[in-house]
Amino acid sequence: MNKQIMENIMTEYNKKRLKAAHEADKRKENLYVNIPELEEIEKMIKLTSINLSRIFLTSPENVDEQIKELKEKIEKLKKQRQEIYKKNNIPDNYLEPMHECKKCSDTGYTPDGKKCSCFNRQVISHLYNMSNMVHMLKKENFDTFDINIFSNETYENEKLTPRQNMYNILEACEDFCMNFNKTNANLLFYGGTGLGKTFMCNCIAKTLIDKEVTVLYETAFSLFEIVENHKFNKQNESEENRINYNMIFECELLIIDDLGAEIGNSFTNAELFNIINERLVAEKKTIISTNLSLDKLANAYSDRIMSRVFNNFALIKFYGNDLRMES
Ligand SMILES: [Zn+2]
Repeated sequence: MNKQIMENIMTEYNKKRLKAAHEADKRKENLYVNIPELEEIEKMIKLTSINLSRIFLTSPENVDEQIKELKEKIEKLKKQRQEIYKKNNIPDNYLEPMHECKKCSDTGYTPDGKKCSCFNRQVISHLYNMSNMVHMLKKENFDTFDINIFSNETYENEKLTPRQNMYNILEACEDFCMNFNKTNANLLFYGGTGLGKTFMCNCIAKTLIDKEVTVLYETAFSLFEIVENHKFNKQNESEENRINYNMIFECELLIIDDLGAEIGNSFTNAELFNIINERLVAEKKTIISTNLSLDKLANAYSDRIMSRVFNNFALIKFYGNDLRMES
């Protein structure tokens, strides 16, 4: 991925706008065939508007009077048109281009110059197409999830069997997806390897992407790599990296998989705090998955990170035997 992505997205917006304009033209053509009177009115409005602008240029003696007269004429014509619309049950905006995104009229930018949410969705979908994520999500989602692979025997000192525990987790994750826009929930998945944490992250990602939520999925390793490239390699930073970096903060859901597998140092600590904190402040949701126990996690990361996590994340423990070892 490179600047090609931006070009592709902009080309798609152009196509959408052209298509909408073309369809509006066709509607107009048909409408005027069926109700020729409307075309007459349209012509008159145009003509009168031209006359009006001429007056401004030439400013004759009785300028105010003429302006008033022409403006009234235009209003009258518009009213006439409106009545015809009403009589024929035609919506007022019938001849306007119908854009897919009403917020930005398929330009990617809202009237106040900000990037539209549909733009971020486009970026994410391109990122996924480029990253093989699409393929993965087809295989790993709530529909392909099999609860029966989890043992129903008690495990160590846990009250619930791994399967019962998994039922609860499943419910919490489905809840998370269902109420995504209503709550401020963040999730921390912790527990050993091969217990379905990544699978569960993928289930959530798939469900929410289908609902057009912008989801960015990164392993902690690649996450810090993106941040490092952004901070220390600004001159040579690729377009891909820049987009990815912005997405870390802008996406509606960030999934950080395998936290603790990266080489931790003061840089990763500071950046992780920044990411978690910025997202909490902006009320954007985050899921963190780690193979570390809570104790080890607390040892590896600063107190201020842990206090953010413990206060704002639902702690979800995965346990049982490594599923990849069995079978
Ligand atoms: Zn939009």
